[in-house]
Amino acid sequence: MNLADYQRLAALTARQDGSVSQRRLVAALGLNGEAGELGELIKKEIGHGHAIPREAIAKELGDTLWYVAAVATLYDLDLAQIAEANIEKLRQRYPDGFSRADSIARRDV
Ligand SMILES: [Mg+2]
Repeated sequence: MNLADYQRLAALTARQDGSVSQRRLVAALGLNGEAGELGELIKKEIGHGHAIPREAIAKELGDTLWYVAAVATLYDLDLAQIAEANIEKLRQRYPDGFSRADSIARRDV
């Protein structure tokens, strides 16, 4: 599935009631919550020695992606363009792949 299709389909499952401001706030909080759930799983894996199924990681990544799409939609932003711009920024920052020196230099900023 491409990001444009995902964003369109995700929007169909979002609440449409309430003000745009309220929906933006809920989406931003939801994004933080789902990112926190992902972090919690990895904390349990690394910090507590739990066996975390890859499917659980994938589920939380999906939940996080849904909220990323929701925030983008609520700001009339195109998720695919966001992805492309992000990769372009990182290509400028790391023209030869990641390096510590390039990370420190941050030439794209
Ligand atoms: Mg979740």
